[in-house]
Amino acid sequence: MTASYDYDLFVIGAGSGGVRAARFAAQDGKRVGICEDLRIGGTCVLRGCIPKKLLVYAAHYAHDYHDAVAYGWDKVSPEHDWGKLIAAKNVETDRLNGIYINLLNGPGVKTYDGRGVITGPNTVQIGDQTVTAEHILIATGGWPFVPDIPGKEYAITSNEALDLAERPQRIVIVGGGYIAVEFAGVFAGLGSDLTMVVRSKLLRGFDDDVAKELGEALEREGTTMAYGRTITAIEKTASGLVATMDDGSTMEADAFMYATGRFPNSRNMGLEDVGVALGKGGEVLVDAYSQTNIPSIWAIGDVTDRMNLTPVALYEAMCLLRTIFKGEPTAPTYDNIATAVFSSPPIGTVGLTEEQARAKYGKVDIYKSRFRPLKHTLTKRDHFSFMKMIVDPATDKVIGCHMLGDDSAEIAQGLGIALTCGATKAQFDATIGIHPTAAEEFVTMRTKEAD
Ligand code: NDP
Repeated sequence: MTASYDYDLFVIGAGSGGVRAARFAAQDGKRVGICEDLRIGGTCVLRGCIPKKLLVYAAHYAHDYHDAVAYGWDKVSPEHDWGKLIAAKNVETDRLNGIYINLLNGPGVKTYDGRGVITGPNTVQIGDQTVTAEHILIATGGWPFVPDIPGKEYAITSNEALDLAERPQRIVIVGGGYIAVEFAGVFAGLGSDLTMVVRSKLLRGFDDDVAKELGEALEREGTTMAYGRTITAIEKTASGLVATMDDGSTMEADAFMYATGRFPNSRNMGLEDVGVALGKGGEVLVDAYSQTNIPSIWAIGDVTDRMNLTPVALYEAMCLLRTIFKGEPTAPTYDNIATAVFSSPPIGTVGLTEEQARAKYGKVDIYKSRFRPLKHTLTKRDHFSFMKMIVDPATDKVIGCHMLGDDSAEIAQGLGIALTCGATKAQFDATIGIHPTAAEEFVTMRTKEAD
């Protein structure tokens, strides 16, 4: 430990990864500082996972009220108050902001309000204050990207969508990734007329069958899908906003939400000046231990664009602390990390997609199941669950599990444990199911797809 520095660790960015690193280092007796130019808590807590999921819950009630009638409930005629939802969501995000502040204050992390600019290998400037640190950690996350088209100032992103004064009655969502499909479920569920503009396909990188099932489900629920299209300009008119499409057609709506990816938050923080290497997309380049090319500067989380998920940023933070303070160099590994998309219906997934599995193993065994969940035998709603399992025939190991349907996010977590333990298909088959559940399908898949 070098006492000549102000801090043992100075963290730039108080989101999930930064707060985790700061507070655990401080709990361990290190002298730690952290700066943040927005609110403490970061994307997941304030502008992402948490508020988004609260809105997803809100949207689910639309289906639940509808389904309740099939179960004998009467006089169900709900109305939704968007303003009340946003206010309730804000109460919760404010509460979480307070918790995160306490998480830092408790172990004695010194917080700075402002943007951190790195001015040397061991120096950070925040406004007119300069601090020195033996280790600097960049944990500044990402920010929504909107393509540069005329009228882009009329577009909103997930940041604004979470705080709109009114719910747009006609909304166009551009993009086909996680954020696009999650907000699609929110706005369609709450009653907006929704069009999705998807330049290629839904959920690139996910298993194709699951993505296809989701696209079909969105259309069944009334979403207009404009595949293969992009928007070239947006204009404001007397009746709303009008977009011109790449085929010359036009589309009018009250809001255009862009969910066209996120770029790493690495600009205007002195990284180029100090010589920190950045990738093509602006991501901070790090080695397996989250170290940049400047040995005293480290980076974790979305700003490194490895696997942009909160639990992964937390894990990278814990590995980093072992590496720099415990003398145990620890490289995070990224296999079999279960994840979910809170679309409607949701997706839960762990391991390889069929495409990835075939590329890696050549021949693979595929098991699939598609069924109407028990709940919907009474509601008669066209709502299906889909499950898929991928097995390496050489070892019998299950190498991928994918599900679209109610509770899939909850189910995927247990599957993540099984795959992390290297479970075989025979072990899945030997597991007794829980009846009647959807999850039991994963232990009763007996029929291989024909090659
Ligand atoms: P993604 O990168 O997942 O998806 C971006 C989408 O926008 C793709 O469909 C892409 O199409 C499309 N696109 C990109 N550029 C353009 C363009 N110029 N014009 C039209 N379409 C375009 O980004 P998201 O914003 O959805 O999510 C960002 C990250 O946040 C993800 O990495 C994810 O890990 C994380 N996240 C995780 C969640 C969870 O765990 N549940 C929830 C939300 C976000 P194409 O496929 O053709 O490139």
